[in-house]
Amino acid sequence: MMAAVSTRPAERATGDLPRYDVGALRTAFPALHQAVHGQPLVYLDNGATTQKPRAVIDAVVSYYTTDCANVHRGAYLLSERATLRYDAARHRVAEFLHAATDQEIVFVRGATEAINLVAAGFARSRLQPGDEVLLSEMEHHSNIVPWQLACEATGAVIKVLPFDDQGVLELDRLDALLGPKTRIVAVTHVSNVLGTVNPVAEIVRRAHARGIPVLVDGAQAVPHLPVDVQALGCDYYVFSGHKVYGPTGIGVLYGTAEALQALPPYQGGGDMVRTVTFPKTTYAPIPSRFEAGTPDIAGAIGLKAALDFVATVGFDAIADHEHRLLALASHALAAIPEVRLVGTAPGKASVLAFTLGNVHPHDLATILDRQGVAIRAGHHCAQPVVKHYGVPAVARASFALYNTEAEVSFFADALVKAQEIFKR
Ligand code: PMP
Repeated sequence: MMAAVSTRPAERATGDLPRYDVGALRTAFPALHQAVHGQPLVYLDNGATTQKPRAVIDAVVSYYTTDCANVHRGAYLLSERATLRYDAARHRVAEFLHAATDQEIVFVRGATEAINLVAAGFARSRLQPGDEVLLSEMEHHSNIVPWQLACEATGAVIKVLPFDDQGVLELDRLDALLGPKTRIVAVTHVSNVLGTVNPVAEIVRRAHARGIPVLVDGAQAVPHLPVDVQALGCDYYVFSGHKVYGPTGIGVLYGTAEALQALPPYQGGGDMVRTVTFPKTTYAPIPSRFEAGTPDIAGAIGLKAALDFVATVGFDAIADHEHRLLALASHALAAIPEVRLVGTAPGKASVLAFTLGNVHPHDLATILDRQGVAIRAGHHCAQPVVKHYGVPAVARASFALYNTEAEVSFFADALVKAQEIFKR
């Protein structure tokens, strides 16, 4: 059985990672300290969602406890406080992404809604029959299906930039795919299956050279690396709060002021208008134009707390720690006969997909769960990726800032035990 991860201050000094006090960090995450099936929880499904630090939970609770009112409406203290906190969250996100202004940050439900917003806008205002939308082969369904809907509505077509067997985008094919009919490129920053960190700044540079806007899906990037949307140069950048230690139900669409202003409204309702008469409505400026109805105020406040938390740890430390875990896990898994690693791009993020002989990943995940280890199995909402490798499904362990070397070793041992069970 794995040694319990220390949460006691006296033991932190002997933590398994020099210069990085993972034991202290773990004390901030209440959900990590529980047993499942009588075993200590080893949570390795961070690509699906992350656990939440106490600061995030407290921020959400404090909004509901003391500041619960609607935003932008009441001329009374509680509403002022709620509005201030909501606006501060927007400012924090702008800072986090290095956006030029707060107005470039739209709060949405998550990465999925953000992409749907942009795709629906393109369908209504830009796409014509025969136009092209360029995606990559490693997109999450969230960055495929909204574009298919947009194409079905307009007669536009999807083109696909492939990746090689390591999981690296075939950039030498990009220029040929960027044609006079390409209206947008939508590409993931980090693949949720392969862990590949894509050269999005280079993709943006080449697309912009032809006047083509670029949307970047940052759902799997923001937990692992610092993002500077101005340095990337992208027109749109999307992410979900829950994958970066924030609440579920809140996410972000970043767009340059110009790119957001080019989109028609998405949903109609309160707060997104300037004037309404029955014949005609005039719309509020960005970002309100895209935030119809009461937003997820508590979610935004929780997201701010999450981004503050991540900042106190620091991306250098997070990346260093996660890469160490990834290297350890890759090494341990490579030593297990019949393990095939899926996605081996250089410099990849801490996402480790694999298959184990003929064992179905779902069966494997179930056996590991009995040992307290939570991993994901399936097509990971990226069916074209698993199809590339000729398998119906893969298993995936994904590491976060609070995982430990002991957990990685326990996971590798659990895999060996599972393999023995399947061989019986
Ligand atoms: N894009 C990528 C790369 C993802 O990994 C995910 C979530 N797995 C999404 C988009 C969608 O995120 P959400 O479900 O939070 O909207």
